[in-house]
Amino acid sequence: MNYRPGRIFLSVPHLGGHEQNYVQKALEDNWVTTAGPNIPGLEHDICQHTNARFAVALNSGTAAIHLALRVLGVQPGDEVLCSTFTFVATANPILYMGATPVFVESEASTWNMCPTTLTQTIEARLKLGKKPACILLVHLYGMPAMMKELLDIAHHYEIPLIEDAAESLGSRYGGHQTGTFGELGIFSFNGNKIITTSGGGALVTANEQLAEQARFLSTQAKESNSYYEHTQMGYNYRMSNIAAGIGRGQLEVLEKRVKQRREIFGFYREQLESELISFLPEPKNCFSNRWLTTILLQPELNKTPEEVRLALEAYNIETRLLWKPMHLQPLFKDAPYYGENLSMALFEKGLCLPSSSSLTEEDLEKVVKVLKAELGV
Ligand SMILES: *Cc1c(COP(=O)(O)O)cnc(C)c1O
Repeated sequence: MNYRPGRIFLSVPHLGGHEQNYVQKALEDNWVTTAGPNIPGLEHDICQHTNARFAVALNSGTAAIHLALRVLGVQPGDEVLCSTFTFVATANPILYMGATPVFVESEASTWNMCPTTLTQTIEARLKLGKKPACILLVHLYGMPAMMKELLDIAHHYEIPLIEDAAESLGSRYGGHQTGTFGELGIFSFNGNKIITTSGGGALVTANEQLAEQARFLSTQAKESNSYYEHTQMGYNYRMSNIAAGIGRGQLEVLEKRVKQRREIFGFYREQLESELISFLPEPKNCFSNRWLTTILLQPELNKTPEEVRLALEAYNIETRLLWKPMHLQPLFKDAPYYGENLSMALFEKGLCLPSSSSLTEEDLEKVVKVLKAELGV
């Protein structure tokens, strides 16, 4: 990590101002723990903003994915169909469960799970006598996946679906918040996401039983006796009341942050889009929060994303390569994979540009200027 002054970061927290009020109240009232009014408050606010029926505040998005797999009853040895083009936090909880990820390739219009490949994968696993326990898909960089097609497949084969919406709070598909289509959805409030609690996450669902079960497991699976009685293995996954206070303030400015990130995407696109540098447009029905602006560099530029990243680094500008697909990770070398490596091609051409909502016009102009000079366009 490089913290030279004046650095232009990829994605940093951007406070709205009211976070302090919630945090200060928590400190004054001595609710400095994993209980207190900000927690149900944040859960209520999440439901309001996303139209989810139930929300459970947790200490990370990864914890939320783990609990989603638990409450769906995934067993050791089960197979979970997972987007290959994602951050490792999507797939790690599959390993926590002792289950096996089966990686599914993306399609080109959203970079998310390809419906055709999903059907092929399910058919192939069924032929081997293995019915997948669930589908775990991601809405990468804020872009909604092709939910209609994917849901139809999930329903047809009666396989429950979890949406990793960690990067897509504020994104909508057909007017509905991503994360609210599957049996369960998860959000992340990590410091680099569109809004933050400094670290945290949430599970959302329309199923009250699943929500209650997740809440129960997140607090060490403590039965409601006066003494400590346990019949199931639980976790310490609850969010703190301080973090939830930050989250309540942050949710107040979510729509503003979405607007700002979309404007940043618009600026870059206007300045840089050409035959040689391409952007991912929004397909019909998709509204992206544009968490990170990504570009693809065509081979004619004769520059790898890594060369460009290093060149910008010299100007104290942080950029990042796209996520390296899971099926190419040494960690998952034995996991089955279906597809034709679109994600690898994207990984080899793509770069994430600084996308913090707090970036100034000057910052953005500097990024564009340095980038144009480096690419010779
Ligand atoms: C950030 C992220 C997560 C995990 O969230 P944490 O709150 O950091 O645990 C999961 N999936 C994706 C795609 C993410 O980007």
